[in-house]
Amino acid sequence: MNSESQTSGNPGSLNVKAHHLTLYHNDGDLVVSAPNGVGGSTFYRIHRFMLSIHSYVFRDMFTLPPAADGSIETYDGVPIVHLPDSAEDMDGLLNVLYDPSRILFNKYDPCAPAKISGVLKLARKYDFTNLRLRTIEHYIQAWPSTLHEWDLLEQTIGVWRPDPDNDDEIEFLDAVFPEPGAAIRLARECDIPQILPSAFYHLSRLLQQDDWNIHHDWNDPDNDTYALSNGRRTARWDLLCLEDYRCLARGREKMDEFMLSLSKRTFRVGVKCNDAVKAKCAANCEQLINQMRQRSRESRDVLAAMLYCESLPGSLEADAELCHRCCFAFTFGLSRKRKELWEKIPEMFNLPSRQSE
Ligand SMILES: [Zn+2]
Repeated sequence: MNSESQTSGNPGSLNVKAHHLTLYHNDGDLVVSAPNGVGGSTFYRIHRFMLSIHSYVFRDMFTLPPAADGSIETYDGVPIVHLPDSAEDMDGLLNVLYDPSRILFNKYDPCAPAKISGVLKLARKYDFTNLRLRTIEHYIQAWPSTLHEWDLLEQTIGVWRPDPDNDDEIEFLDAVFPEPGAAIRLARECDIPQILPSAFYHLSRLLQQDDWNIHHDWNDPDNDTYALSNGRRTARWDLLCLEDYRCLARGREKMDEFMLSLSKRTFRVGVKCNDAVKAKCAANCEQLINQMRQRSRESRDVLAAMLYCESLPGSLEADAELCHRCCFAFTFGLSRKRKELWEKIPEMFNLPSRQSE
């Protein structure tokens, strides 16, 4: 978000002092200045109580005695505080303080991390405890913490279609649902570890060529609007650090190992059925597992491949290709292994557990 400001100095000068367009209240009793990123400062005229009722840090600051010589720096007739934080971040924080409805941002918005990172960084620095917790509570719903929530979100994504009445712009699924690169960066910078497992799992399904910066830049020659309109998902790969790439590589390896470890013995197929069908059950079970591995390789989505294969034994049983006991054992066992995989994602990607915060 760009700082909305109007200049009060020479617009051509780098050292411009600018009053914020909407956050310079004439009846405010405090001016806060913040560097605007182009060599100048943005000035906010606000009300002290707005800061002190939400932040212990500001409350304490306002109770400090004046300097030894009794002097207080003023601007426009009221005390001024120069903060080192960027005007962009300050905009985010003050906008939410003055208009709490802004905290109800669209949690699925792939650009949500960019919109809330300033708020979260300053909220942590200046101890706006409740504001920080409410913002995090709202945002983390975009990244499921249980397998059931994951499946529900995947179903929602699966049935999403562009609004047919929207003639103004083309809507892409990728611009509607969460994007993992910015989410992981936000989680690392603003201490939201609980979203990392889902975000990393989703990232592991994507290819590096599916880059947000390329596919959402209509001027980029590699931009592929056709792929986006067919539901392609992308990531902001440039926001990941070396450690993130290590976690990703490790997670992918561990999931491959997990898939390779599955066999008919895992599901106890061909154990309790009678001798007449034992061999057929075992062979069909191996075939199901191979089908699952192939689907997992092609989609890079182990959870989806396992879910798909949970529905297959029923039709095999109906065609007398699998006995009832083996059908039940495979379906039940696969569901159990899928849950196990979900629980192991933090460990596989070398991430904090979902419970930590
Ligand atoms: Zn059997």
